[in-house]
Amino acid sequence: MRDCLYSVDIMNPIVSFKTIGCRLNQAETATITAHFTGAGYRVVPHGEATDVAVIHGCAITGKADRDSLRALRQVRRAAPDAIIILTGCPAETRLKLQTEKGDDADLVIGQAGKFALPALLHRLHPSRFPPPLQITENPPVLPVFETLRAFVKVQDGCDFRCAYCVVPETRGSPVSRPIPEIVEEVRRLADSGFKEIVLTGANLGCYEDNGRRLVDLVRAVEAIPAVARIRLSSIEITTTENLIIDHMATSGKLCHFLHIPLQSGDDGILKTMGRRYDVATFRQAIDYALNKIPDLGLGTDIIVGFPGESQPAFENTVRLVRDLPFSNLHVFPYSRRAGTRADGLADQVPAAVKKERVRILRELGTRQRAVFAAGFIGKTVEALIEHVDKAGAAHGWTGQYLEAVISGTSLRRGDRAPFTVAHTVEGQLHNFKPFPARM
Ligand code: SF4
Repeated sequence: MRDCLYSVDIMNPIVSFKTIGCRLNQAETATITAHFTGAGYRVVPHGEATDVAVIHGCAITGKADRDSLRALRQVRRAAPDAIIILTGCPAETRLKLQTEKGDDADLVIGQAGKFALPALLHRLHPSRFPPPLQITENPPVLPVFETLRAFVKVQDGCDFRCAYCVVPETRGSPVSRPIPEIVEEVRRLADSGFKEIVLTGANLGCYEDNGRRLVDLVRAVEAIPAVARIRLSSIEITTTENLIIDHMATSGKLCHFLHIPLQSGDDGILKTMGRRYDVATFRQAIDYALNKIPDLGLGTDIIVGFPGESQPAFENTVRLVRDLPFSNLHVFPYSRRAGTRADGLADQVPAAVKKERVRILRELGTRQRAVFAAGFIGKTVEALIEHVDKAGAAHGWTGQYLEAVISGTSLRRGDRAPFTVAHTVEGQLHNFKPFPARM
């Protein structure tokens, strides 16, 4: 079958991608995809027969690492003869730790090499794979995803060295892209039909281009007329400057949404984690943002079961989560990562305790999302319509990252639709309240 694929279309090989992990990975996959399509590859969905499969994995948690390897095995079953490339953080950690761990990848390519994969494949198999058309830092942008949201990497690397995190090892020191280069990329994305631009980075708040900060970048991107919305991906509380909050409060394009990792609501655990804030500082910064932007959507990440997390320490986290109006709670059980400081800590929390703590916090998160959504009943919000279903209902997202379902209109994909919220269902906003069922 594989020989057949090559002989039929030797210079138009097939490639598939699987991305696991953060928005930064998604932004980078878009760039890697553009490199492949620029070289003449045809893209098929992950899991279909292919000549090359790229698994762009994540190693931030044990689960993400396992998911990356599961994706690898999946594609091996679907395309037994494909060249499978593992890249991203799991590849980087494997290269650094010189471990094989039973991986089934043909090539393990670290962070530096992942933007030159077509060139590498051509070098290894010149008769099978075409040369790259151009390998630049600023590749051709193609609308490869069925979404109106494009992720743009503006910064990479982090030197905060939190005790549990592999990112400083896998992505190195902070580096930012120049504003003009980002503006050019965003302009092309917007011209290709993307309406919402998500600015991403390993440590986004550290963005700096010759003294110009994140707020300056946001202003420059906002000035592009075809950009309807800008969203910030995850940002550290200690790097969230008041300037960016003040700007968000008045901007017509920067979404009212912040994803600020909390990780723990206990000062002792925050200190052991090596986080650069305590609970009081976190509260103060969130209070500032909420005072400026009362309808702010607030997301966060929490790690439960970090070594030494006692029951009272966990309860401190629960209390803080209850006190703050989080609308998107991402809760992860702590998982040991080889090569991190936390891996060597005593007092690891048993798996069953972690599981129960995850359950408690996830349930709390679901309730808080519903409460946040219900606060919009009777108010007018704007949704960016992503698709219209068979029944004619338009589905989209508000700036606060709430899903909207708008019925009885003739909205189309890409419309910015103001509507009045009549009803909510599990955190979804609806413009109609269903009639009560007849008895
Ligand atoms: S801030 Fe901490 S958790 Fe975030 S990328 Fe840097 S080291 Fe990792």
